[in-house]
Amino acid sequence: MEISKTKNVPTALRNVIAKNILRARTSVTKAIRHRKEEDVDESQKIKNLKSDILNSISHIFGEHKNCSTLAYFCQKTVPDVINYMPDLRSFGLEEKIMNAVRYLASHSKSFIMDVIII
Ligand SMILES: [Zn+2]
Repeated sequence: MEISKTKNVPTALRNVIAKNILRARTSVTKAIRHRKEEDVDESQKIKNLKSDILNSISHIFGEHKNCSTLAYFCQKTVPDVINYMPDLRSFGLEEKIMNAVRYLASHSKSFIMDVIII
């Protein structure tokens, strides 16, 4: 991802992104493991995983938009005191990050069926 090279982004925000982006990978890996074990049919597993992946950025950067609805790894219903999502939005970074995340989410079926290991 070329976010670290995006112009006009304050260094502090760049550092926050750099520090937290690896957490996205971890949370997706955890979500795959969790959803695979769920006692629901395959299409529901895929749907749930997709929602998890799409929500991961909001969770990681302190907004927790759909965390309580997804209801297994985070119960927060309100944003953290330090919520970076408004900053990411104002610098146009949410879209860039979400493009990558949407791409990842589009592989949910393969993740559930073990075709792709990340
Ligand atoms: Zn959360």
